[in-house]
Amino acid sequence: MDLDLIVKGGTVLDGTGAPGRTADVGIKDGRIVEVGAIGASATTTIDADGALVTPGFVDIHTHYDGQASWDSQLAPSALHGVTTVVMSNCGVGFAPVHPGDHDRLIELMEGVEDIPGAALHEGLAWDWESFPDYLDAIERRPHDIDVAAQVPHGPVRLYVMGERGANREPATPEEIAEMGRIAAEAVRAGALGFTTSRTLNHRTSKGEPTPTLTAAREELVGIATAVGATGQGVLQLITDFPDFKTEFETLRQMARASGRPLSVSLTQVHGNTEHWRTILDAITAANEEGLTMRAQVAARGIGILLGLQASINPLMRAPSYRPFATLAVAEQAHLLADPELKRTILAEYGGSGPVKRRPMLDALDKLFVLGDPPDYEPDPADSVEAMAARAGRDAADLLYDLLLADEGRALLYMPVFNYADGNLDAVGEMLEHPYTIPGLGDGGAHVGTICDGSFPTTMIAHWGRDRRRGPTFEMPWLVKRQARDTAHAVGLDDRGLLQPGYKADLNVIDPDRLGMRAPRMAFDLPAGGKRLVQPGTGYVHTIVSGQPVYADGVPTGALPGRLVRGAQTDGAQGQNQ
Ligand SMILES: [Zn+2]
Repeated sequence: MDLDLIVKGGTVLDGTGAPGRTADVGIKDGRIVEVGAIGASATTTIDADGALVTPGFVDIHTHYDGQASWDSQLAPSALHGVTTVVMSNCGVGFAPVHPGDHDRLIELMEGVEDIPGAALHEGLAWDWESFPDYLDAIERRPHDIDVAAQVPHGPVRLYVMGERGANREPATPEEIAEMGRIAAEAVRAGALGFTTSRTLNHRTSKGEPTPTLTAAREELVGIATAVGATGQGVLQLITDFPDFKTEFETLRQMARASGRPLSVSLTQVHGNTEHWRTILDAITAANEEGLTMRAQVAARGIGILLGLQASINPLMRAPSYRPFATLAVAEQAHLLADPELKRTILAEYGGSGPVKRRPMLDALDKLFVLGDPPDYEPDPADSVEAMAARAGRDAADLLYDLLLADEGRALLYMPVFNYADGNLDAVGEMLEHPYTIPGLGDGGAHVGTICDGSFPTTMIAHWGRDRRRGPTFEMPWLVKRQARDTAHAVGLDDRGLLQPGYKADLNVIDPDRLGMRAPRMAFDLPAGGKRLVQPGTGYVHTIVSGQPVYADGVPTGALPGRLVRGAQTDGAQGQNQ
């Protein structure tokens, strides 16, 4: 048989967690047909000698709902070996929607996920009303990598309840039934699941809590039951667990009533540093009771990036700085170097001032230089405050200089979750736990403050090779976690393994160069909107459905990525069809 593509002689980490072995991977018609010593000829051969060959990574927690409708390239995820993204997490998205409610959904997405409203206004075509219409719109645009959607509770609630839904009023039994009907219809049309948000950290751009924040248990269980009746789909949510026992019981009842897998975001909260263990214990008990429940966990701290170009800039507190904020960054850096201006701004920054002090901007002991390549597990002894103390300088004075570095493009990093201990030991424990799944990268969102779409690279490079401040993991196991386990968690059983019959999504990785550069601000969203983009390194080839889509970070122009509709059966079954 003539093959389309052979990836020859690499060290294959096949996604099962088995140790790497030297083998060729043969591909035909978008599927893997053979792994081993292949004698057949192929149209194209990629020499993978000295490289790692892994399944493409599956990122189950992204927010490309807007971007996927106007952009064929799903960067930054696609630059990090990701070949399938699952979007519409945390109850936010753009369908279903009444024609008069477009602005409301933009405010929700702009506030919750920090995606510029102007970009959404210009970028979204709104050629849909129902969720199935939205899936059709996404499907019309070819992409570099595969994309899957979920049906988000926020839009569903607004669609059914209007103003009352936005105001978080309780749903009537009829409204719950209608929301359930819409969610089930979406899942039948190809949504991978239903998602919701119950966190005060999520607000609309007008500062309002999300419509779903206080949705009653009857509403959540009602919708989950309707989704469960389809026999497909997963449930995803984020919650602050305000009253742990009551809230967890709601999760338990959602999972029980639906019979579907449920995942909930989990981080180490800095004000309550051991609470994540309590949540994991409850999740373990739920699994022992026969429910399928997972905590979605991060590959590193969830951190905010601060800088002159970022959405959060500590100098904004000083009134004398603000006229400069709109200037081009290099010009800012040049003008702000003036010693007199620096003294004025720092006096305002340090004083009580008219602007409310925000702890995030004052915790210089929790703020680090990100560096390039970035260091996501910095030593507390290298905080801005500690550096200043060593140098005998005022910490704010040092902060000012650091913000001006690299012609004003420098970024400072403040891990706000998962870093209470000043290291990633808690993250390691979470990643290793049997009832967790890697997620939370939020690719496509928080574009001016966070750039965590690179989590998959951190998984493999930091945890498999680079970590110096604690234990590491075996690379084959990490690949399994980021490819097979994530795919399986959302019902995509046709991918994540390098075995005959599976979808030919794979990475050819230079193990020495695998890593990433610091995020940079790009101004390429619709309406000139800015977003942080972070290149991966060492991804020599990323291949989707047998077609190379990126070579060393450069797009090949091929767009084999498709909308994935619904759960997929085991790839090995596909082989025998
Ligand atoms: Zn999210």
